[in-house]
Amino acid sequence: HAPKQKSLTKRRIFLPHLQKMEETYIMIKPDGVQRGLVGEIISRFEKKGFKMTGLKLFKCPQELAEEHYKDLNSKPFFPKLIGYITSGPVVCMAWEGDGVVASARKLIGATNPLQAEPGTIRGDLAVQTGRNVVHGSDSPENGKREIALWFKEGELCEWTPAQAPWLLE
Ligand code: ADP
Repeated sequence: HAPKQKSLTKRRIFLPHLQKMEETYIMIKPDGVQRGLVGEIISRFEKKGFKMTGLKLFKCPQELAEEHYKDLNSKPFFPKLIGYITSGPVVCMAWEGDGVVASARKLIGATNPLQAEPGTIRGDLAVQTGRNVVHGSDSPENGKREIALWFKEGELCEWTPAQAPWLLE
């Protein structure tokens, strides 16, 4: 019998950083890329302690932008929004962690950057709703939906950050 191996296997199951946690889709919009804010924005999620599981620079086709924002397709600003999102490359990201959806929304700040709290990404780095530099999923369901929409299967990466045991007890 091999008790050591067995207990190791058992322990793995309960280590929080080895579990699949909540996921969110974060996207740096074309203005964020053009303004050279990619590193700054990624850094905020990294420093917070969430785990990146997907990352790519991508020129978004019209149909994908329309699918992503389909709940807003009756809004008067919808055509402008699609034009904005497809105007240049975006940085697509998947992030994972307990409570990552709501926490990322807090880090991002209010939709209107003038109402976003200082310390948030939009509060610190933007002034207009139509140029608010970053997107974050608004629910865990949409997090899953949007990651599936923007990433192909082989593009996501399962890994355990070396810092995991120092972040998660
Ligand atoms: P959030 O991105 O904060 O979840 P919404 O889902 O309400 O906000 O809107 C999606 C995106 O549509 C916003 O981030 C913004 O880029 C754009 N948008 C929302 N409202 C307006 C508006 N009134 N005028 C122009 N663009 C808007």
